[in-house]
Amino acid sequence: MPVTKIDQIETLILDIPTIRGHVLSMATMRAQSAVLVTIRFSDGSVGIGEGTTIGGLSYGAESPESIRSAIDTYVTPALTGWNGDDVNGAIQHIDRLVKGNRIAKAAVEIALWDGLGKRLGVPVAQLFGGAVHERLPVAWTLASGNSETDIAEALEMIEMRRHNIFKLKIGKRSVAEDVAHVARIKQAVGAAASVRVDVNTAWSLQDARWGLRGLQDAGCELVEQPLPARYRRAMAELTAGYEIAVMADEALNGPEDALEVAKARAADVFAVKVAQSGGLKKAAEVIAIGQAAGFSLYGGTMLETGLGTAAALQLFATVERLDWGTEFFGPLLLTDEILAEPIAYRDFCVEIPKGPGIGATLDPDKIRFFRRDGGRTLKAVAGE
Ligand SMILES: [Mg+2]
Repeated sequence: MPVTKIDQIETLILDIPTIRGHVLSMATMRAQSAVLVTIRFSDGSVGIGEGTTIGGLSYGAESPESIRSAIDTYVTPALTGWNGDDVNGAIQHIDRLVKGNRIAKAAVEIALWDGLGKRLGVPVAQLFGGAVHERLPVAWTLASGNSETDIAEALEMIEMRRHNIFKLKIGKRSVAEDVAHVARIKQAVGAAASVRVDVNTAWSLQDARWGLRGLQDAGCELVEQPLPARYRRAMAELTAGYEIAVMADEALNGPEDALEVAKARAADVFAVKVAQSGGLKKAAEVIAIGQAAGFSLYGGTMLETGLGTAAALQLFATVERLDWGTEFFGPLLLTDEILAEPIAYRDFCVEIPKGPGIGATLDPDKIRFFRRDGGRTLKAVAGE
């Protein structure tokens, strides 16, 4: 049988406005920029992948521009002509040639799995042993920067039966202001919803001691990455010192980090992200380490479009227990959909896309409209 080779790897950046300003401790997003990867194989099949980060370079070490350039300059020449069915071999080859750049690697890896799944006529979940869920609980992030707006948004989401898990982005204001903000929202939603916070590394250990005490008194159930990623001992102190669950996010960049966080007991919960882990396979390894070490799991997002979200859903559909659910709401934060058939959200859950590969088909008109080099600028798209 002839080998199906990788013929071409194309990248482009999409800039899609968000439905409102998304206020994080380190940046305010008004648009999301996603790197779209398209791999064309010698048999005519095509695989698509996405590499996305949050707030340019303010969240992590990769930007949309660096993701694209790492792929075009280093990954594409190394993989052109490679056996397209040899996903593991391709990943290992790139790992030897390219250090770091996990999001860039993830984008290419997703496109490889997508192509393989399509050629075999099976969903990517099948390539990871098969889905054990048809839908997963999905959180919504309240991050308008205003308590009243957030409360109205939360009540509307509960009413619509779209979300009853809310993650509040805090860390930009003082600890006392943030705790008061969280308490108001928890009071407004009461027992109808779970309230959690993400500090995105903004606190010192001293801030966090006050913060965690106040948050747990307010009825908040979980705090995500209160301290910088490298402060494992301090994260372990918080994990042991309070009842509120502590989640690691920025601290988890692949399996090696997962092992270190597990050894240090520097969290109760792993927020597992495909992009941050370096791909679906490495995210599966992070999940396995968390499971073996007795950590709870949560499906994390980089606010990907429907494409990256579909890919993540393929993997997380195979995970036995996600005690804290997922936050795969990325497409809902964007003003427009780039998939021909959007991912479905209903009854507080997100549904696992069916169909071969990652289960996503792009809408070519939307890709043309939102692509950065299509004559439009990020500024024009963001409307400011
Ligand atoms: Mg986070």
